[in-house]
Amino acid sequence: MSPAETNGSKRAYVTFLAGNGDYWKGVVGLAKGLRKAKSAYPLVVAVLPYVPEDHLQILQSQGCIVHAIEPVYPPENQTQFAMAYYVINYSKLRIWEFMEYEKMIYLDGDIQVFDNIDHLFDMPEGSFYAVMDCFCEKTWSASPQYKIGYCQQCPKTVQWPAKLGSPPPPYFNAGMFVFEPCVLTYHDLLETLEVTPPSSFAEQDFLNMFFKDIYRPIPPIYNLVLAMLWRHPENVDLDKVKVVHYCAAGSKPWRYTGKEEHMEREDIKMLVKKWWDIYDDTSLDYKNDGRVVKAEEHVKLPPFNSALSGTDDDDQRSVPSAA
Ligand SMILES: [Zn+2]
Repeated sequence: MSPAETNGSKRAYVTFLAGNGDYWKGVVGLAKGLRKAKSAYPLVVAVLPYVPEDHLQILQSQGCIVHAIEPVYPPENQTQFAMAYYVINYSKLRIWEFMEYEKMIYLDGDIQVFDNIDHLFDMPEGSFYAVMDCFCEKTWSASPQYKIGYCQQCPKTVQWPAKLGSPPPPYFNAGMFVFEPCVLTYHDLLETLEVTPPSSFAEQDFLNMFFKDIYRPIPPIYNLVLAMLWRHPENVDLDKVKVVHYCAAGSKPWRYTGKEEHMEREDIKMLVKKWWDIYDDTSLDYKNDGRVVKAEEHVKLPPFNSALSGTDDDDQRSVPSAA
């Protein structure tokens, strides 16, 4: 029996990796973090072509299940968007096709899990669970929320003006979410995508739009977007935080220099150190104890290979997350 089936149901964590940059370090850190938290479920890594073979081998040696995915290409009417931008943002939707799992928790590669969150798999089916985002950073400057100064994290501080109608519905950060793979949902996602113009927050906006009717917010301890530390400290209890999302500019632990705005904060330094403590801990390396880690054939490089390589020297997202 594989570890994913020990509770009689098929569950796994899943993350996404594109390109030949250094994001694999985040995935290795995440795999070790889940191991430290004694998660009962494996980490599946959805990989696009042109993740180099040596990166894939490192992931497998850390116990990850590497799952090659086909790119999602832009529809004919959306060729104005750069190929790499589109492919990197929307190929992530392929995880809804992972029908060998009944339920999955998606985690971005710049997330670390510091405490066991397996209980999130036990929440009722039929909903989409994620943490509400914060609208206060400059990356949101094009949004009406930012212009008004309204944030769903503190909706009473600056109230939503009545003349604009009801406040916007809850909006989640798509770095972490609980979902159920489903082929029908997958096809619905792709069909909807074809008639939806990509927006500044790419797949995060798209997923928010698509799942708005079944979205259920979960507490910020399950995806602490670092900007919360200086934007909404009253909403953060660091001692209780289980999942940290190193999404603020300059905060990726494997690239951290401390020079960017806010990065000199003591709480940030502490969280970056905690990430490194896990990454460097050799006792958390995967030890093959006879369990079979399924490694799928790495798909051949398609022609857009050159468009994708070199795109993630900054970030996997072409547009940074607001958080
Ligand atoms: Zn905010």
